[in-house]
Amino acid sequence: MIIDTHCHVYDSEMDNAENIISEALKNDICLILNGTDLKSNLEVLELSAKYDNVYGALGYFHTLAGEVTDEDISLLDRQLENSNVIAVGEIGIDYYHGKDKRDIQIELFEKMLDLAEKHDLPVIVHSRKAMQDTYDILKRHDVKGALHCYQGSAEMAREFVKLGFYIGVGGPVTHKNNKKIEKTVKTVGIDHILVETDSPYLSPEEKRGETNTPMNIKYVIGKIADELDLGKVEVIEVTSDNAKRLFNIE
Ligand SMILES: [Zn+2]
Repeated sequence: MIIDTHCHVYDSEMDNAENIISEALKNDICLILNGTDLKSNLEVLELSAKYDNVYGALGYFHTLAGEVTDEDISLLDRQLENSNVIAVGEIGIDYYHGKDKRDIQIELFEKMLDLAEKHDLPVIVHSRKAMQDTYDILKRHDVKGALHCYQGSAEMAREFVKLGFYIGVGGPVTHKNNKKIEKTVKTVGIDHILVETDSPYLSPEEKRGETNTPMNIKYVIGKIADELDLGKVEVIEVTSDNAKRLFNIE
């Protein structure tokens, strides 16, 4: 079984979400749906309750920095008790969009990390043009998790691995001339990699311009297998074991 560790396959992001989920499950692709706000967190709860092998990650995304109320935090606190929820995510900081909101993004991110600690859940982290701050903040917290669609340097990836993090690899690894991710994959090795699609975003090279779906995870797996000179089956087995270990799923 393949585990797509990061996707947004629910109504507020995609048309025909349930058809796409069914197709993925039929093809032995297990899904971790990542919510980003009140509405999508509810959709994730509903879908993870309805389907076996669909798990939920809930969180408030950096775009909500400054808007999240105490009531929103206590709602999330209660929702994280749900047994289908296996992580706090998608959370993080992004200085490509919203560098001017650095402080309030960090404040929200820290609140999400506090909840992860409280519930003893791993985190799924979005970090764009903010690697050093992300590292410094995660180091202050007692959390493990995934750096989703990792975009930093290979050297930095090694530091995140030492903190107990896995490196999420998705569609961009298939893009031409993406030497940075290729180097990261080779540096951290298969034991520290998770595969993901970020559907409906980040389509692989082979499907550029189309809506991305979990079915396209095969291109990510193929590219990692090529880079590491491994068989696809081995890439699937090891990355699934990594995900099961991190997210504590059977
Ligand atoms: Zn995402």
